[in-house]
Amino acid sequence: MKLASRMNNLGTETAFEVLVKARALEAKGRDIIHLEVGEPDFATPENVVNAAVEALHKGATKYTPSAGIPELRAAIAKRVSETRGIHVNPDQVVVTPGAKPIMFFLILALVDAGDEVVTPNPGFPIYESMVRFTGGIPRFYRLREENNFRFDPDEFRTLVNEKTKLIILNSPQNPTGGVLEESDLKEIAELATKYDIPVLADEIYWQILYDGEYKSIASLPGMQERTIILDGFSKSYAMTGWRLGFGVMNETLAPHITRLMTNSNSCTSALTQWAGVEALNGPQESVKKMQQAFRERRDVIVEGMNAIPGFRCTMPRGAFYVFPNIMGTGWGSRKMADYILNEAGVACLSGTSFGEYGEGYLRFSYANSLENIHKALGRIREAVEKIQD
Ligand code: PLP
Repeated sequence: MKLASRMNNLGTETAFEVLVKARALEAKGRDIIHLEVGEPDFATPENVVNAAVEALHKGATKYTPSAGIPELRAAIAKRVSETRGIHVNPDQVVVTPGAKPIMFFLILALVDAGDEVVTPNPGFPIYESMVRFTGGIPRFYRLREENNFRFDPDEFRTLVNEKTKLIILNSPQNPTGGVLEESDLKEIAELATKYDIPVLADEIYWQILYDGEYKSIASLPGMQERTIILDGFSKSYAMTGWRLGFGVMNETLAPHITRLMTNSNSCTSALTQWAGVEALNGPQESVKKMQQAFRERRDVIVEGMNAIPGFRCTMPRGAFYVFPNIMGTGWGSRKMADYILNEAGVACLSGTSFGEYGEGYLRFSYANSLENIHKALGRIREAVEKIQD
C-alpha cells in the first residue's frame, strides 16, 4: 500500500516505543522499572470513578455535542477563570479526548505549508511532529540547563518574525521540569503582540508546580485573545486512560476547532466527560496529596541522580520529570538509555526523543513509587559504575 507523502513528515512519541521494548523484556521474565512514560501511578480519585459509574447507569452512553457537554464546559470555564485570573465563558472551551488533540487540531487549523512555528527544544515531540505534518517549519528555541531550562531571550527574539504563524510554550515543561518566569512570558507576549501571533500555552502540568503561584501567559495584558490554553485531566487527576482534555480559546477560533472534533471524534466519551465534571467540582484533596508525593519523590530522585558518576541533575520546579545531564559519562543519550534498560532494567527516554538539544540528557519520569525510585537509582548507579571501571 502506498502511503500519502504527508506521512513521511509525521513523527511520534518515543515513550510509547520504549514502553513496547520494556514490555517485551518483561514478557521474557525481566523485572523492569518503568520511568519512561509520563503517567501518574496513582489511581483516579474514587469520587471521579463513582461519578462515571453513576453516569453510565443514568444513560451517559450516547453522543454529546462535539465541543463537550454544557456542564463540563461550564465547570472548565469556571476553573480556568479562577486559576488563571482571566474571564472565560463556556463557549470558549472545546473538550477533547485527552489534551493532545488540541495541539493536533490547532496546528492543523493555523499552520500552512511554509509557515514558521516557534517551539521549545528539548520539547514535547508532538509539537514538531505536527508542525512538520502540516508542511510548517519548526523554529526551535533552546531550553538551557544553565538557565534552569529557560530560554535565552536574545536567542528567542531572533526566531520570531512576520513568517511566524504560532508560538508554542510549555510550562512546567516536559521533559525538563523547568518553569518559565513571568519575565519570559512577558518577552513572548511582547513579540506575539508585535507580530500578531497566536500562542499555544501547554499548561497541562500547571498543578504540579513546587514553588510560587502559577502564572498563565493568557493573564498578561492583551494576551487572552491570542492565547490557546491547552490543559486536561491526565496528569492532575491521574486520568491518562480516560482521555479527557480541553482547549480554551477565543470565540472565533473555538467553532473551527469544534469542526475538527466533529470530523474526527464526533465527541469525547460521554461518561468520561461526567467524570471530568466531578473531578473539577468535587473535593481536591487527592490532587494535593499527589503534589506532595511528587515533591518527595523529586527530592529523592534528584539527589540519587547527582550521586551517579558522570550525571548532573538540576532541581525541577514543576511536572514529574528529571532531565539529568549525562555528558560526564562520555556516552551518547540513546546508547545510555538502551544500556540502562537492558543492563539495569530501568526504562527511561533518551533526551534526543525531545529534539536535537536533548543530546547529552536522559528523561526519567518520577511518577512511580518511592520504593521503585530507590531501587531504580541503585540499579542505574551500579550499571553506570560498571562502564567507568
Ligand atoms: N502536553 C504535554 C507537555 C504532555 O507531556 C502531555 C502528555 O504526556 C500532553 C500534553 C498530553 O496529555 P493527554 O493527551 O494525556 O491529556
